[in-house]
Amino acid sequence: MAASATIAVDVLIVGGGIAGLWTLARLKQAGYKVVLLEADALGAGQTRFAQGIIHGGTKYALTGKLTASSEAVADMPALWRKCYQGKGMLDLSKATLLSEAHYLWSTSSLTSRVSGFFASKVMRARTNELDKNTRPAIFQRADFKGQIYALDEPVFDAMSVVRAIAEPVMDSIMAIKAGSIKYENNVLSVESKNDKQYAFEFKKIVLTAGQGNAALLSSLGLQQPEMQLRPLKMVMMRGGLSDMVFAHCMGASVNPRITITSNHDQHGEVVWYLGGQLAEDGVRRSDAEQLECAKSELSELIPWLDQSKSQWVTLDIDRAEVKKPDGQRPDTFYVEQRGKVITAWPTKMALSPIMAEHVLKIIEDEKTGCADDDNLPAWLNPAYACLPWNEESRWLR
Ligand SMILES: Cc1cc2nc3c(=O)[nH]c(=O)nc-3n(C[C@H](O)[C@H](O)[C@H](O)COP(=O)(O)OP(=O)(O)OC[C@H]3O[C@@H](n4cnc5c(N)ncnc54)[C@H](O)[C@@H]3O)c2cc1C
Repeated sequence: MAASATIAVDVLIVGGGIAGLWTLARLKQAGYKVVLLEADALGAGQTRFAQGIIHGGTKYALTGKLTASSEAVADMPALWRKCYQGKGMLDLSKATLLSEAHYLWSTSSLTSRVSGFFASKVMRARTNELDKNTRPAIFQRADFKGQIYALDEPVFDAMSVVRAIAEPVMDSIMAIKAGSIKYENNVLSVESKNDKQYAFEFKKIVLTAGQGNAALLSSLGLQQPEMQLRPLKMVMMRGGLSDMVFAHCMGASVNPRITITSNHDQHGEVVWYLGGQLAEDGVRRSDAEQLECAKSELSELIPWLDQSKSQWVTLDIDRAEVKKPDGQRPDTFYVEQRGKVITAWPTKMALSPIMAEHVLKIIEDEKTGCADDDNLPAWLNPAYACLPWNEESRWLR
């Protein structure tokens, strides 16, 4: 099938997760002619699996001192809240705020350590210890002997954020066939999901394809920057749960021992989504071992929880980030330009806004210039990805 006439754009973006969508919306606001290409569904990569916590750095400061990670994220809760109020750089007023705060609790055995940590100057401004009446319902019991703090960290439904950003800019997003991108003589050609060929000329291309960035870089003739994948074995649980819980349990390491977020599935049933150290260490366990471990962690940490009616499943997912020499989590987002190619990984959903600002700054600093017209042909737009707990087949395993 013949290609349409070449479409000249200022910026092409590849990958419609939170990073690509935030970048698309900001570049369009700045007046650039931008097109985003998505090979699956919007949010289909890591974004739909995110727990949706807009970290303010507390998790990363569990060592008792601020690290580079915690400083990078410190302003993110305020930035996201402003967007949710419709007064920020993007309008997220249609997104779903699942919880105003994320909580951090300690078991009685760790209480003294937690007290010392929260008494530190670094943490006093960011956290608030709760008394029995202001705790989340699940911790309002007499047999809860630990401490609980509210962190200034809102929790969003990740796919509702994807929808809120994508909906107003959908005309600029094309559903393409996986593996159809070809780059020759400064022209990038693709095949849309409905079998049409398109060709683009661009001044800059931004790769926000998560795990897909490595293959895209190589198809553009680049070997750098290198990418690393860090796997997680998350756990989902539903049945017999009445409370929505958004909390980290403080463990012995820098990472929370368990991180619980909650959502409603498509039947309206409460689902708990379990991450933290449980999911980090879980990659060395079989699925059955991981489920046993999750059950026993919850029995120990929330002994009054009735698990008798619960269904459990594991969920394997890789985080894609820039490669670090030691394979550790990067401290912050990553953006790098080589020629016309800008490669970006946000590292955290929470950091997508500052990652996108960084991309915008590179483009502005280079005086990339805006096209005279922003006309684009009508084409097939991608669907939205499904949240993992709404994929019923996962529960039937
Ligand atoms: C289990 C889990 C929990 C997390 N929880 C949190 C949290 O609570 N808070 C937080 O801040 N962060 C969290 N994160 C991190 C966060 O999810 C990621 O940092 C973020 O979603 C990455 O977004 P992205 O847009 O870069 O990549 P992705 O979401 O992976 O999106 C990449 C997109 O590119 C598309 N694509 C790939 N290849 C191509 C191609 N060749 N052509 C076209 N399109 C392509 C994919 O289909 C996908 O839509 C979590 C991550 C995981 C895995």
